[in-house]
Amino acid sequence: KADIAMYKAKYAGKNRLMFYQEEFGEEKSFRLRLISELEKAINNDEIEVNFQPIVESCEEEACYFEALARWNHSTEGVISPAQFIPIAEETGLIIPLGELVMKKVRAFIDTWKLVKGSDVKVAVNLSVAQLYHESLQGSINRIFGDREGICKSLIFEITESSIMHQLEPAQSKLNQLKALGSTIAIDDFGTGYSSLSYLSKLPIDIVKVDRSFVLSLPENQDDSAICKAIISLSHSLNLKVVAEGIETEAQYSHLKSLDCDYIQGYLISKPMPCEVFLS
Ligand code: C2E
Ligand code: MG
Ligand code: MG
Ligand code: MG
Repeated sequence: KADIAMYKAKYAGKNRLMFYQEEFGEEKSFRLRLISELEKAINNDEIEVNFQPIVESCEEEACYFEALARWNHSTEGVISPAQFIPIAEETGLIIPLGELVMKKVRAFIDTWKLVKGSDVKVAVNLSVAQLYHESLQGSINRIFGDREGICKSLIFEITESSIMHQLEPAQSKLNQLKALGSTIAIDDFGTGYSSLSYLSKLPIDIVKVDRSFVLSLPENQDDSAICKAIISLSHSLNLKVVAEGIETEAQYSHLKSLDCDYIQGYLISKPMPCEVFLS
């Protein structure tokens, strides 16, 4: 709890003021209520993590899993990360929230090893505030450091928009993560309006094509051309490609024909509690 007070104090500057000024009416009280309840939810362990498999485009077995945070609210029901992650980012709560997620990822990796006898790879989403927070390395070390080589099982997903503004700081942060043996993926690729040159300048391993480009496949020829170009560019830079949000067989086979390496989406599985994959 002391930790959270510290993070809040740190983030209580400019952002907070702007945040309050923008709010009004019912929307304001709902959001303000969510802020205080999110803090409690983190303290009371009400944030859960679901896992969604990512498969190689010709196999059925999961190649790795993406960890996705879930908030099971006592009266509001399940609140989507699209709603609470931005709040967590604005308030600084993303730091303790991110640690909680990583702890649950660690538990999943350990249980998997116990039950299946093998190492499972897990992708963790990192917000820009987490990437640049001084506590990141320490948290990773604390949560994963006691077992040799476990960071090799981690894939860090970072959005294009979080790295495009300043290349050099991004380079040094990503290099630190790479030095642990972890893999780096660019999330929601194609939505960041950024220059493509960073793909060769940063230590990136995987590109995740945003769901918006696969939504109207195979019919939409423009989107198909975009996917084809992203896959071909990525391959020529020695990067692997994941397509996210695959819901239909037609999308799946189209992306397979475009030589996409990995597939993620409801067609394979929705994000599920870890028990589903451990039995
Ligand atoms: P993302 O990292 O791009 O995650 C993929 C999102 O697409 C997830 O939404 C997933 O449930 C959804 N999805 C996967 N397959 C399909 C499909 O076939 N159809 C549709 N319609 N959706 C699909 P979710 O779980 O709601 O998460 C939303 C975003 O919230 C994530 O987008 C990520 O940016 C953020 N997020 C979630 N968990 C965390 C976390 O622990 N830390 C941070 N920093 N961000 C998180
Ligand atoms: Mg992601
Ligand atoms: Mg994504
Ligand atoms: Mg996305």
